[in-house]
Amino acid sequence: MTLSVASTTTRTTCPYCGVGCGVLATPQADGSVAIAGDPDHPANFGRLCSKGSALGETLSLDGRLLYPESDGARVTWDEALERVASTFKRAITEFGPNSVAFYGSGQLLTEDYYVANKLMKGFIGSGNMDTNSRLCMASSVAGHKRAFGSDTVPGNYEDLELADLIVLVGSNLGWCHPVLYQRIVKAKAERPDMRIVLIDPRRTVSADIADLHLPLQSDGDAALFVGLLAHLANAGVTAPGFIADHTSGVDAALLVAEDWTVARVATATGVPEHAIALFYDWFARTEKTVTVYSQGVNQSAAGTDKVNAIVNCHLLTGRIGRPGMGPFSVTGQPNAMGGREVGGLANTLAAHMDFSPEAIDRVGRFWRSDSIATEPGLKAVDLFTAMGRGEIKAIWIMATNPVDSMPEADMVKAALAACPFVVVSDMSARTDTGVTAHVRLPAAGWGEKDGTVTNSERRISRQRPFLALPGEARPDWWIVSEVARRMGFGDAFGYASPADIFAEHSALTGFENDGSRDLDLSGLIEADYASLAPTQWPVRRASRARMFGDGRFFTPDRKARFVPVLPPPPFAPAPGRFIFNTGRVRDHWHTMTRTGKTPRLSAHYAEPFVEIHPADADRLNIARASLVRLSNRHGSVVVRALVTDRQRRGHLFSPMHWTDQFASNGRIDALVTAKVDPFSSQPALKMAEVEAEPVNAALFGFFVSAQRPALDSAYWAVAEAVGGMRGELAWFEQPADWDHWLRSAFALPQAARIHSMLDSGSGRRSFVVLEQGQLVVALYTAPEPVAVSRQWAVGLLSAQGLSASTVLAGRPGADMPDSGAIVCSCFSVGVNTITAAVTAQGCSTVEAVGACTKAGTNCGSCRAEIRGIIDAHRLAAAE
Ligand code: SF4
Repeated sequence: MTLSVASTTTRTTCPYCGVGCGVLATPQADGSVAIAGDPDHPANFGRLCSKGSALGETLSLDGRLLYPESDGARVTWDEALERVASTFKRAITEFGPNSVAFYGSGQLLTEDYYVANKLMKGFIGSGNMDTNSRLCMASSVAGHKRAFGSDTVPGNYEDLELADLIVLVGSNLGWCHPVLYQRIVKAKAERPDMRIVLIDPRRTVSADIADLHLPLQSDGDAALFVGLLAHLANAGVTAPGFIADHTSGVDAALLVAEDWTVARVATATGVPEHAIALFYDWFARTEKTVTVYSQGVNQSAAGTDKVNAIVNCHLLTGRIGRPGMGPFSVTGQPNAMGGREVGGLANTLAAHMDFSPEAIDRVGRFWRSDSIATEPGLKAVDLFTAMGRGEIKAIWIMATNPVDSMPEADMVKAALAACPFVVVSDMSARTDTGVTAHVRLPAAGWGEKDGTVTNSERRISRQRPFLALPGEARPDWWIVSEVARRMGFGDAFGYASPADIFAEHSALTGFENDGSRDLDLSGLIEADYASLAPTQWPVRRASRARMFGDGRFFTPDRKARFVPVLPPPPFAPAPGRFIFNTGRVRDHWHTMTRTGKTPRLSAHYAEPFVEIHPADADRLNIARASLVRLSNRHGSVVVRALVTDRQRRGHLFSPMHWTDQFASNGRIDALVTAKVDPFSSQPALKMAEVEAEPVNAALFGFFVSAQRPALDSAYWAVAEAVGGMRGELAWFEQPADWDHWLRSAFALPQAARIHSMLDSGSGRRSFVVLEQGQLVVALYTAPEPVAVSRQWAVGLLSAQGLSASTVLAGRPGADMPDSGAIVCSCFSVGVNTITAAVTAQGCSTVEAVGACTKAGTNCGSCRAEIRGIIDAHRLAAAE
């Protein structure tokens, strides 16, 4: 039974993470779009997280690339496409097909991906089509192929509700896959015996539901699971029949593992023996165990081995292919899985087929091409390194921002700057990658695109348009097809619609597929594309699809492979250096090209930061909320210090979202060494080595302004706010002429009157410009980090009838209470409001706080933080 929706409502899919939530989008009369979770979508059953809930706020045309540009000037589509096609053709003629490359993204729809991959690998004849999914889950792909003979994710989301033990490895599900997290929270509330183990160097918010947290050394998970394999074998917790009938290689895997005692694992991981023993005991005793893993496993120089160390434990116990159990890789991006399906990785040809002679012949015949690529292309890190050597003469980057997201990001920036021809197709007018482009092509964005995505449980869902294409934006599949036509391949790219492409892709997956290939979507060739309901593959089996339920895998003998895994030695940074981990925050997505447009999502964390343990901060004289420089031989960044015991001593953590568009020097991936896993070529984005030192700023500042300023201070970070912008500043020397600085930074006319106040005792200053009682700009400076309430100051942007003296005072009056830093983004509830509910109104549970304030009652992503506030109050009251 499906919900009937208004005729103006469109069923579509969230464009952010790999959960793949169904979304109902309803355009409103005032031009806005109401967003709700689709109660009938099997991924989310109506839930959305903070990012999904705010999708309607990302749809404005501010910052959109609306017209094709060539060398910075607007041109017609014809001119742009001709330049792209002729330049690629010339490079191929002069330097060969491997002198050109495409770099795609998990943001592309499957149809876009299919066409781009077909053009590069099928007709240009090079394997040089790789994707930012290389940075996301290539190690899972490689691990799956080694174990299963195919890139098959065995899990279904319902397994998370059926399991009695869920092991979260390198996965902050609470922030990075919030709807899956909420499904687990609900299941655990209904079945209190369900256990959760969190394996992560940091005590992330996901620890909130964990019965056991193992804060292991970075990359200690290989040793942990190798030790688990030995423990299971020694304890006799094995599935002899399954192992004999459906696997091979168990003896070799156990031989390597046998020396990994609990004591040795404790040494390798830094986790106490008793905690490891408890985890092993729970795993051994619990038949229904799901091991969920994500970037903490994949983004490692030992990522593939870590995947196989996990899979080995499930094979040994036969816990795979049955309800409530199995290894389960959850993907970061909305269509990482779709990209894998079409062959978007450089070592895949198409439709989950690699570059075997049989596959090359088969795909060549299907595409009717005699110029098909015959070998894998350059994978992401190798691609940009080759570009740096001058070997890539033309590159086309689609819907991604490698200048910020690649390791050694400064090297990537330099390589792109030196590349003879860079094409960027994107919806954003200005990204750090886009500024390097010779040709910029305006691509359709979410809400305008029409196609499919595949989520982490292999479920294909439609992204449907509900907005007209703005300006001259076009779908990616159309852009690529038009270039293909101009390159002389028109016969193979004459698509009239994404439905044509999906049918062809589905047909290729089933072409000469006798069941020996896992991906077969041929059952969808005749499906009504327009009304296609979320469909999980395999599509030819029963609707409750479960991979490997018959114990047959996709190796030649249909048996799964144990892979012997030798844990890497613990990573030991040079003396005085930190292990540097990178990741994500709750409310931002990738390089903020969409989430950075919403004040709500920008309020949770409004500037780049580093988490540092209090003891390390003390040792280095790094004060709370001060600025810190992180550096190594690749580069340096300046970020805010977030001193917290969530972090291990000797380890640092920073989110990767901030770019040159939002901060003066916050491109975190500039610090990450481009070291890759030997099997997957996925870079180790979670383990760099950096030095940290305090930045001795002479002066700090905070501003709110109606317009975006042009800043030249030593440090700046800006974020959207309701009614304008907010930003953090610091100077090594205070500006000699404040009047001049303010007028220049905020483009104030000479007639504008700048009110100011100086507290000569403290050195604090404030400045304000009003226009008819409304705020134009307010700036607060101090020799120490500015203590003005950010939420109160942001509220000034929407206030009327302001007086200069009120704003200059920098303190909320009784008429404008300060709600404090935002905790609940959905309802903009701040920490002060929640604290008041706990202290003054006696709310002692998250539910009670929700009833009082609404915080945590929508997506639930902030519930762990609310619980933290309640616990802190309880602790303080007990002392
Ligand atoms: S969990 Fe959030 S970001 Fe991920 S698909 Fe669902 S709504 Fe989108």
